Amino acid sequence: MATIFTRIVQGEIPCYKIAEDDSYFAFLDINPLAKGHTLVIPKKENDYILKMEDADLSGLILFAKKIGLAIEKVVPCKRIGLTVIGLEVPHTHIHLIPINAISDMEFSRPKLKLTNEELAEICERIKSEL
Ligand code: 5GP
Repeated sequence: MATIFTRIVQGEIPCYKIAEDDSYFAFLDINPLAKGHTLVIPKKENDYILKMEDADLSGLILFAKKIGLAIEKVVPCKRIGLTVIGLEVPHTHIHLIPINAISDMEFSRPKLKLTNEELAEICERIKSEL
């Protein structure tokens, strides 16, 4: 069965899409730790990043780099934190999170409650920097 992220890529489940190419896809996390919290995924399903083919993994990192630099231009922060957890969704994804302190990467913190309008606005602003 397709993962929830594959269903997002295929347009079956809506998302705030930042960018895609033939192999990769970036979209806003639905439960963000910070404004601009984005997930970057390979379109090819793979549960565990360390099991990706080297070329696919390299491409994923380069795609994430481009998206992260665009987020940085839009969201005031010290830098973009990158992390991979993958305990919830079995489809490799890199979290890109604007951070000012290490605690900003703490996933047990309460998530932001952003309106659809706020998510749409941040999505458009990031896209405009690509
Ligand atoms: P992880 O697998 O890295 O522990 O967490 C999965 C991440 O995916 C979480 O941050 C969660 O908010 C996000 N997520 C789960 N389901 C959806 C969804 O349907 N849409 C979006 N945009 N994000 C999701």
